[in-house]
Amino acid sequence: MRQCLQYGNEEICYQVNRVVSRKQKIAIHVYPDGKVQVDAPVDADPVRISDAVRVRARWVSKRLEEIRERNLHVLPREYVSGESYFYLGRRYLLKVIEIPGCVGKTKLVGRYLQVTTPTAEHTLVKRFVIRWYRARAKELFARRLSALAGQIVWLREIPPVKLLTMRIQWGSCSPSGVLVLNPSLVKAPRECVDYVILHEVCHLKEHNHSQKFYRLLSEMMPDWERHKTRLDGLAEALLND
Ligand SMILES: [Zn+2]
Repeated sequence: MRQCLQYGNEEICYQVNRVVSRKQKIAIHVYPDGKVQVDAPVDADPVRISDAVRVRARWVSKRLEEIRERNLHVLPREYVSGESYFYLGRRYLLKVIEIPGCVGKTKLVGRYLQVTTPTAEHTLVKRFVIRWYRARAKELFARRLSALAGQIVWLREIPPVKLLTMRIQWGSCSPSGVLVLNPSLVKAPRECVDYVILHEVCHLKEHNHSQKFYRLLSEMMPDWERHKTRLDGLAEALLND
């Protein structure tokens, strides 16, 4: 359900997401792509929901303004030498080496992400870069998950992981217990990767963002909020592909 409200001379539109929860809380999220989502209890009165948004309209408007500002500086990628690419929180410069007839190879060499390609055609270079990120993501997520799982006493077995490119989300946990992780997460610092993995692992036990959920998460990662804040700040730059 999509609704809008007037704030000054601005129109704030939001999506209402009905959630099953014992708590009567209404939560407002502003995502890096400018989407506003309001999580409200299934039986919450529509007036109560719009009032909740109205009360926080100033905050929502400020967040949207920040996003517009940031978007002005984020340029679309061209997959040419000299562009910046992130891997585990570090910045690497793309270096495209054209060798006609070669099979194509992507690897890190010093501070460069080096792509050797039969042609420098940007869709091809893009394909190599995306393939490289996916391969790194698959490897890293499996490694971190098995390291972290060793410390979680209630986890009986390592859950399966699926990679899924998402525009506004780092991960989710399917009802059948599959951890869905965004391959772009491999661009973030390792602690942020661990935070997302642990967050989704906690959903295996607690399916919503209840107090119990956050207690569980804090037990495993006491300083998770610090990593979440850092990741939120990086979202626009890292999800832009
Ligand atoms: Zn969650």
